[in-house]
Amino acid sequence: MLRVRQTPARGHYDKPTIHAILDASLVGHVSFVDEGMPVSIPTAIARIEDGLYLHGNRSSRMFKLLAGGVPVSVSTCIVDGLVKARSGMHCSMNYRSVVIFGKPHLVSDDEKPELLHEIVQKLIPGTKDDYRDHLAKELKATALVRLPLDQASAKIRAEGVHDDEEDAPLAHWAGVIPIRRVTDAAVPSDDLPTGVDEPVEMQQQIQAMLA
Ligand SMILES: Cc1cc2nc3c(=O)[nH]c(=O)nc-3n(C[C@H](O)[C@H](O)[C@H](O)COP(=O)(O)OP(=O)(O)OC[C@H]3O[C@@H](n4cnc5c(N)ncnc54)[C@H](O)[C@@H]3O)c2cc1C
Repeated sequence: MLRVRQTPARGHYDKPTIHAILDASLVGHVSFVDEGMPVSIPTAIARIEDGLYLHGNRSSRMFKLLAGGVPVSVSTCIVDGLVKARSGMHCSMNYRSVVIFGKPHLVSDDEKPELLHEIVQKLIPGTKDDYRDHLAKELKATALVRLPLDQASAKIRAEGVHDDEEDAPLAHWAGVIPIRRVTDAAVPSDDLPTGVDEPVEMQQQIQAMLA
């Protein structure tokens, strides 16, 4: 179930590869079956050690099901380039993706405050000690679940064009258009008090995460 079958050489199953892709992904698509129907919901993801953490309003449909241990598949993907071939058939994409299967479990109230701090820092690197502490009512409203990463696979395409040999002489451009993710200049909140430092280091750390 976990092995990539199409172009199996692009499949990777080692933890460092899977962790690195998850760390660079901000969002995962959480898929589950509810009332007999498949559903896939995008949400923020944060990897800590060998677990994937999902947090959200405890009254949402997804978090009620996750807290109950519904079987899920979570997938994530970063597109690194568009591959233009001389035929439509061989046009492709370069990417890094991960697929995970498992049953989440609810994190205990004791562990939640510290883990939520770690998750904020994973999602917005450079925020350590740069926001107020969680309020009791905020913690109460938030469900936090952990999905183990013991059933996960990665798939990576980082290649050029694979055209048919006989198409090589055709006068159509072929190659890769790389896609990069870059942060833009930070836009301060309208109500920011004067004298608050610009988030230079935070922005650098976010950019490093996206690279
Ligand atoms: C950006 C992007 C664009 C793609 N475009 C196409 C396309 O246009 N057409 C197409 O056929 N395929 C495309 N793929 C590949 C697609 O995601 C699947 O890898 C492919 O359908 C796998 O088929 P399969 O029969 O080998 O695997 P399946 O039988 O579907 O999967 C077997 C197992 O392999 C692993 N696996 C499969 N795919 C992935 C993956 N992408 N990442 C991590 N683990 C995986 C999972 O553990 C899965 O349970 C694309 C992938 C990405 C990330």
